[in-house]
Amino acid sequence: MLSPSARFSALALLAIVAPAMIVAVLGYVSIRQWEASSELLYREQARDMATMAAEKVEMTLRRAEDTFLDRLQTALQTEGPPARAVDALLVDSPLVRRLYLVGRRGELLYPRAWKDRDAAVFGPLVSESEPRKLERSGKRVVIAENQICLAWLTRRGGEPVLVAFARDPDALRREILETTLGPLESQTILAVLDHEGRTVYSRAPIGDAQRVLSVQFRDVLPDWRLAVYQAPGAAPRQAVRRQVMLFTGALGVLVAVIVAGIVTTWRLMRRETEMARLKSDFVANVSHDLKTPLSVIRMFGETLEMGRVTDEGRRQEYYRVITREGERLTRLIDNVLDFSRIEGGRQTYEMTPTPIEPLVRGTLETFAYPLAQQGFKVEVSVAPDLPDVAMDADAVGQALANLIDNAIKYSADDRALTLDARIVDGRLVIAVTDRGLGIAREEQAKIFEKFYRVGRSDTQGRRGSGVGLALVRHIAEAHGGDVTVASAPGEGSRFSLRLPLGRP
Ligand code: ADP
Repeated sequence: MLSPSARFSALALLAIVAPAMIVAVLGYVSIRQWEASSELLYREQARDMATMAAEKVEMTLRRAEDTFLDRLQTALQTEGPPARAVDALLVDSPLVRRLYLVGRRGELLYPRAWKDRDAAVFGPLVSESEPRKLERSGKRVVIAENQICLAWLTRRGGEPVLVAFARDPDALRREILETTLGPLESQTILAVLDHEGRTVYSRAPIGDAQRVLSVQFRDVLPDWRLAVYQAPGAAPRQAVRRQVMLFTGALGVLVAVIVAGIVTTWRLMRRETEMARLKSDFVANVSHDLKTPLSVIRMFGETLEMGRVTDEGRRQEYYRVITREGERLTRLIDNVLDFSRIEGGRQTYEMTPTPIEPLVRGTLETFAYPLAQQGFKVEVSVAPDLPDVAMDADAVGQALANLIDNAIKYSADDRALTLDARIVDGRLVIAVTDRGLGIAREEQAKIFEKFYRVGRSDTQGRRGSGVGLALVRHIAEAHGGDVTVASAPGEGSRFSLRLPLGRP
């Protein structure tokens, strides 16, 4: 048969911990999937956006160049030398940096001569296969490296003219890239990279942003790429990771709360069980404690009544035993009654100025017989000139009696009892010291709890109710003081009742 707390643990495990764990595992698996799919989704979106932006750039550039070529075609058709019209057109077309017009046989029509080293760059282009390819397809081509465009137009009279021009990088950046990419709404950074991977344009400083992906431009900007960058910390993976951490943290807190709840409930239940056990021990112990003095009183009373004891000395001793056992009974009953009054919150204390020495000696006096009979060495030291202290003398006397009773009860071979009363740090300290069994450190805080008995004190062979020290502590605290213990197993204990002196 399982104990209630074991049953509770098993139930809690099944009913709370197992579902919580399942939720935790499912949650973890789903956020991992979420992490992967959000990354995928993000990349897809980024690719779509980059493709769209690249198309837009190319469209704008194509349109600008087509417009230029249309206007050039018109200029070539006008009467008179084309040079002037072309010059005027060039002033108006910042995108075109260098323009050359070449006749069918390779003769330079415009301008009159190659500028700088352009002959080396343009020469091979206009004389090789490109123009012929172009002638066939009828479209213009772009030679990527130098960003040079070639196209066939016709002169007045139908003569074909090969047009070759270089793009102006600044104008390209300013008028095409900036105007198309600049206004695009996106948290990412878009950059245009040339055929060598150099950044030609970026919408914001790239800094240590990470490249997510890049797409290739098509025929208008061949070999160039449009790249998507993500600022550090803003990548979806990191955002998701933050979410994952948040979720994991929340899950951790949830599990911790559940576990703490279970542990607390389990502890409470264990305490309850322990309390129930202590209470039943208490009843058994009190009954036994009541029976022992009663049977002694009855036995001695009957013996005396029968008149069998003729010796006056023996008779006197019997009377003393009866009185002492009566006192023990009274003390025990007082303890139990006071304890129940305290538990019920009905205990009241009457404070009156009390001289200390008579209280200490008077209380000790009630133990004179057992102390003498058990051969105790007793020492009392009360500091001279102690002031009267406001207290409930009966209650403090009872607390002191409990301490002395324990010192006798838990004595060992070395039977010595010291009582001293003095003022320490502005407080009255009445200390009861014995050289008895002593108390292990880990037990020292517990002995003041109600019903608590060290090792149930059965092994020590001493009976008791386990409420004596709880009462002492309550009385001390009700007076605004406390009770402390200094003890070591096998060496003895020193209990100090510390009470405030109160108003003078
Ligand atoms: P009890 O009725 O068991 O004496 P108390 O509340 O007076 O109950 O004491 C609680 C426990 O503290 C005792 O059971 C005993 O184990 C321990 N104890 C109290 N006083 C002493 C002492 N002077 N020396 C050793 N152990 C003590």
